[in-house]
Amino acid sequence: MNSVQKKQELQKIAQEVEKCQQCSLYKRATRGVSGEGNPDARMMFIGEGPGYWEDQKGIPFCGAAGKILDELLSTIGGSASGGQLIKFDRREVFIGNVIKHRPPDNRDPLPQEIEACRSWLDKQIEIINPEIIVTLGRFSMAKFLPEAKISRIHGQPQTIDFQGKKLVIMPMYHPAAGLRRGEILEDLRKDFLKLGKLLESSSKLEPSREQLSLI
Ligand code: SF4
Repeated sequence: MNSVQKKQELQKIAQEVEKCQQCSLYKRATRGVSGEGNPDARMMFIGEGPGYWEDQKGIPFCGAAGKILDELLSTIGGSASGGQLIKFDRREVFIGNVIKHRPPDNRDPLPQEIEACRSWLDKQIEIINPEIIVTLGRFSMAKFLPEAKISRIHGQPQTIDFQGKKLVIMPMYHPAAGLRRGEILEDLRKDFLKLGKLLESSSKLEPSREQLSLI
């Protein structure tokens, strides 16, 4: 699938999410928040579910936690050919959530809601075909590493089989947790700094034109 086809398929998912009634969360939400970003992203960031501002605007991670995520993304660097530095922002990656409609009062998503919503995220992963998935928070981590404890394995990449392929999962805390606790924000900063090296060591390292234009 080329970039244009991928973009079209992701748009179709966003339209279908808008109409989805597979669980009851749509009833109290303003709109679905499917996800956004580069259809050819090498890295996907997956959080928990939309919060207040995401629900209002339809954009993932656009509130206070999103500001932290943007700041953390800007710290990712990698060497392109010639030793130049690749700088990242949300246009280079794809950002989504395990749950596409906001749970009331930002409560934790229920297991049956996560299961009902699973197919949308699975389809997005299949279309984008990323090399690395960064899970933000325990609900997203549990999708790939159900037995893991985030306090033990954050910042430590794990290779798993997913959809018949090898996939690197980088578990991290949710940026909202970093807003509440300074030591978690420090852990997030340290863990994000590892992503540049992880990308460099990835087999498909070839900076895109868009990435190079940002140097
Ligand atoms: S949260 Fe997911 S499964 Fe539930 S209605 Fe929204 S899109 Fe459908």
